[in-house]
Amino acid sequence: MTDEAAFILFQKGMEALGVKHEVRWVLDEMLRLGRGDSYLQEVLQRRSKGEPLAYIFGHWAFRSHEFHVAPGVLIPRPETEELVDLVLERMRSRNRTFPSWHIVDAGAGSGCLGIALQLEAGNSRPQLDPKLTLIELSEEAWPCLEKNIAQHAPTANLFKGSWLEWPPERIQVLVSNPPYISGVGADKPDESVAEWEPHSALFPEDLRRFPDASGPYRELIRLAQHCVEPGGIAAFELGAPQASWISEHVKQNYPLWSGELVSDMGGKARFWIMQRLA
Ligand code: GLN
Repeated sequence: MTDEAAFILFQKGMEALGVKHEVRWVLDEMLRLGRGDSYLQEVLQRRSKGEPLAYIFGHWAFRSHEFHVAPGVLIPRPETEELVDLVLERMRSRNRTFPSWHIVDAGAGSGCLGIALQLEAGNSRPQLDPKLTLIELSEEAWPCLEKNIAQHAPTANLFKGSWLEWPPERIQVLVSNPPYISGVGADKPDESVAEWEPHSALFPEDLRRFPDASGPYRELIRLAQHCVEPGGIAAFELGAPQASWISEHVKQNYPLWSGELVSDMGGKARFWIMQRLA
């Protein structure tokens, strides 16, 4: 088959799958790898089984950084990129509050959230050079996370365990994109997400106890209370079930904190950012 015929077949196939916009990215990757037409066939075959492009490539961009990804970690999402801006803004405006910064990413997965924050705070003005700790319980996530640490954040600490077991230190920023899908009603992941991405990153373990998937936030807010210094920040990504609950929960139980819900680009309440007042 000529190059052009192979390409047209590939393009038609991708179009039929509803992923025509990915064609360019696949061509870029083919060039990067120095592969020929057989790469297009391989991608189309895997893609037609629903495998996400990020897992086929083995890497994915998050903000301006390229992260290793594999089926053991959640694929970095564009919403989560917005959380980086929200946290950076707040760190910059409080740059004189602390002599040094320590960021903890609880349930780090690929590490994209915490690592992007460290990289960008280090490049920003004022330059903050934060220390970084990544907490991750899932063994399946570790190989990928370790590669990203080696590549982007060689000074970061990796704590292999639950955020409940992490020996608390005094920190200034706690961030997390925990599992928050309840599985109830419309709150379900897309079919391909449910089939391919790690369930431990999507559904909380304690769904039976907290069917609104608020369990991780209850723990994370308690962790923030234990370790974030006055003036410090805790910021989490969340979904609809938690958005309707979290403000009231913090107001009633954590008087030292003031928080706000922030919407994502799609207009959905997606982030909870709270500051420790005292
Ligand atoms: N936003 C993700 C999704 O829609 C869910 C990620 C998570 O639970 N943290 O698939």
